[in-house]
Amino acid sequence: MSEIRVEQLTKTFGALRAVDDVSFTFPNGQVTCLLGPSGCGKTTLMRIIAGLETQTTGAVYFGDQDVSRLSPSKRNIGMVFQYPVVYRGISVYRNIELPLQSMKLSNAERARRVEDAIRLLGLSASANLDVSKLDNGTRQKVSVAREVARQPQFILFDEPITNVDAASKLQLKRSLKELTRSLSQTIVYVTHDQTEAMTLADQIALMEEGRIVQCAPPRELYNHPYDRFGGWFLGNPGMVFFTATLSGGENHRVLESPLFSLPVAVDGAAIAGSDITIGIRPEHIRVSPEPLPAGVPARLARKTVQIGGQYLLALDVHGLGDQGFKAKVAPTAGEHLPSSGQVNVELPLDQVSLFDAHGIRIAASLHPVGAPVAD
Ligand code: ATP
Repeated sequence: MSEIRVEQLTKTFGALRAVDDVSFTFPNGQVTCLLGPSGCGKTTLMRIIAGLETQTTGAVYFGDQDVSRLSPSKRNIGMVFQYPVVYRGISVYRNIELPLQSMKLSNAERARRVEDAIRLLGLSASANLDVSKLDNGTRQKVSVAREVARQPQFILFDEPITNVDAASKLQLKRSLKELTRSLSQTIVYVTHDQTEAMTLADQIALMEEGRIVQCAPPRELYNHPYDRFGGWFLGNPGMVFFTATLSGGENHRVLESPLFSLPVAVDGAAIAGSDITIGIRPEHIRVSPEPLPAGVPARLARKTVQIGGQYLLALDVHGLGDQGFKAKVAPTAGEHLPSSGQVNVELPLDQVSLFDAHGIRIAASLHPVGAPVAD
């Protein structure tokens, strides 16, 4: 096993740069999810790694080997697609066994591999059933088991859960999680679904317009987005943003916003200009019927309950113009709020991110003016 590396990879379709100068390493033995909105280039990047698409420029390496010119069959990879690829009319066992017949394996080794794959995917109860009789979630498991039994160098997954019936999605996701943990194989997993990526990935490579904008473990990506795009794309709903005013000199910068009852001191890296945006995750905004120590009055326009019992609140604050925003609170906090009317909101300063005029997050810490800086 080894890592997959792409260097200065570009793929154009006419004027469109589907993959735009990507240099990146998919680490050995880890699950890397390529996540991003529709059309950002995830599938094209994966297809280039598989050899199903030819790059316009750049190179693909498997370990030290340059595989850029090798055909897909010479790359020794497994692929799982959006729709299950199975042979109808034969059993689960035979589906998994068939591709192994063209490999030079002893009967015992072939049987061992099929049985291991069946066990890993939890398919024992359906091993002798005709695949036509299975739901499409179980069929997708058969597709995965077949690739696992071949023992390729890498496995590439292209949105394998997207077209599975809603009822089977969770179960398939769990199976894939268990499988990837026990395989410890280099896996590239394409998805546009952030919960899937959060569940399965060791690290998420977030893509936008043909580029990988950030790669980090799921929690880090969520808590410390590289830019506003990452803040907005992750989360349900994503981060909320407000313009704020930054004033003062290098050692005494002060941030003002209608959401702060008092000016806030800013410490940290150099900040060019005064054009600043503050961002916060909706679930970090405190909302209360009572006044809050550093809070401001707000109007609760709407309160709706979400799956899981949390409440989604539509709020506005005097001074923000027409900009309404969303907050998300736990069931107990939400139950104590009126369905609409006057409330109070507070932005905990340790949860507030700052973004510069280009939308890039600034490493900085915020604290009340006059208070000592927290470590
Ligand atoms: P989705 O989640 O919708 O599959 P994606 O992030 O996987 O999106 P790609 O399928 O890689 O995105 O497509 C990236 C861009 O390249 C899109 O604008 C798409 O329309 C375009 N594209 C992909 N394949 C081709 C092709 N064969 N010919 C022309 N344009 C293409």
